[in-house]
Amino acid sequence: GVPRETRVKLVLLGDTGVGKSAIVVRFVQGEFSEESKVTVGAAFLAKSLRIPEHGPDAAVKFEIWDTAGQERYASLAPLYYRGAGAAVVVYDITSPASFEKARFWVKELQKHASPNINIVLVGNKKDLGDTRRAVSREDARAFANENGMAMECEASALSGEGVVEIFKSVAMSLWR
Ligand code: GDP
Repeated sequence: GVPRETRVKLVLLGDTGVGKSAIVVRFVQGEFSEESKVTVGAAFLAKSLRIPEHGPDAAVKFEIWDTAGQERYASLAPLYYRGAGAAVVVYDITSPASFEKARFWVKELQKHASPNINIVLVGNKKDLGDTRRAVSREDARAFANENGMAMECEASALSGEGVVEIFKSVAMSLWR
């Protein structure tokens, strides 16, 4: 049958180098690429994910917007946030500065995005966690709770661990 497909605009936010492009490439293409910047670059990529929990034909089509380097500027164009149903705020678990930057981006979302936006906090580069962790899971959870985020998780674009779960949790939050 025709899939019962819900569309959602998803914006990715986070410091340069935290792995935003790598996460998108891992999700959309199922691989890790050092050349992710080249692959993603411009406006957005789309990918559908089936959600069997919501029926045999239920699916969510993500329109994923990457900042393509614009996060260097203090603020992004309102066009970037407009109509976004979900935001994935990424930091690098080996970088406390990137976690501070995540706080900044959440404030930006609270100022400029729809009040109904579902925000997911993602600590990327989990594969480096055993040796180079610099942001604790407890701090991340506390931050997510204080700001009413839909979810908090850790992932690795390199190994693939937890990446599909990011998008799955965004999809589930759309039905809440
Ligand atoms: P962006 O600027 O946020 O889009 O970050 P990129 O996707 O360009 O990634 C920045 C750097 O971090 C690149 O050298 C990636 O190869 C690396 N990287 C991204 N994700 C991971 C990860 O999960 N683990 C490790 N070890 N490196 C990663």
